[in-house]
Amino acid sequence: MGCSLQYSVPYQGMTERISTADLKRMFSEAARCLRDQHQQLSQLDSVAGDGDHGVAMLRTAEQVEAAAQDESSQSPRAFLRDSGGRVLSVDGGASTALLGAFLTGMADAAGESDLDCEMLAAIFESGMNAVSKQTRARPGDKTMVDALAPAVAAIRAAAVSGAPVADTLQQAAAAACAGAESTKALVARYGRAKFQGEKTLGHTDAGAASMALLFHGFCLAFTAQGEMDHGGH
Ligand code: ADP
Ligand code: MG
Repeated sequence: MGCSLQYSVPYQGMTERISTADLKRMFSEAARCLRDQHQQLSQLDSVAGDGDHGVAMLRTAEQVEAAAQDESSQSPRAFLRDSGGRVLSVDGGASTALLGAFLTGMADAAGESDLDCEMLAAIFESGMNAVSKQTRARPGDKTMVDALAPAVAAIRAAAVSGAPVADTLQQAAAAACAGAESTKALVARYGRAKFQGEKTLGHTDAGAASMALLFHGFCLAFTAQGEMDHGGH
């Protein structure tokens, strides 16, 4: 993994609002990325944890895909609420509890209508706040928060600057990836990995890697390649 992921040129014909269908496509792409990399995620978790993170993310991906395919959820709020509930139901340990809180927190700030970049920033911040209520881990503690916090900050910065949706998500993906990379130089202070202390130095945190994959998937949903994969609009 790492930050060698290449993004294709953003698809310029995209509307500047994210519909429920767009949001479902973002999460479907994210689920596909988690599914594709789940073995590597378990390897990362086996360095300092119990080696089950890939399985947890595979189960998470299944639930997110099921939520995305459920046509009864027809608003951003309904889809995010359903996804959050499903991920919370996964028996996956610390990461799925935190991801479920993240999605549920996003749902709390989402409404019935399509999202503009300002609303996108607001729902991601609400998700981040929900995670911060569940854990004391902050950037620098070598957890998923090291990827999530800079990604959410990048979305807010892009919204303030009036960037298009595709650029916004590209900046978020790059920030999440850099955040995950940064965990190599950190010592774990939370989760199972904290018991390994200095031994965690030099290794990417598993949860930070999966968070970076999640944002990579969101971004892919708005690139020319992602559009081609899905036959365009
Ligand atoms: P478990 O640790 O229960 O086996 P996973 O292996 O699925 O759960 O996920 C491990 C990842 O979850 C870690 O790499 C870290 O990013 C994240 N994590 C674990 N505990 C915490 C915590 N207390 N705060 C924030 N993130 C955590
Ligand atoms: Mg684990």
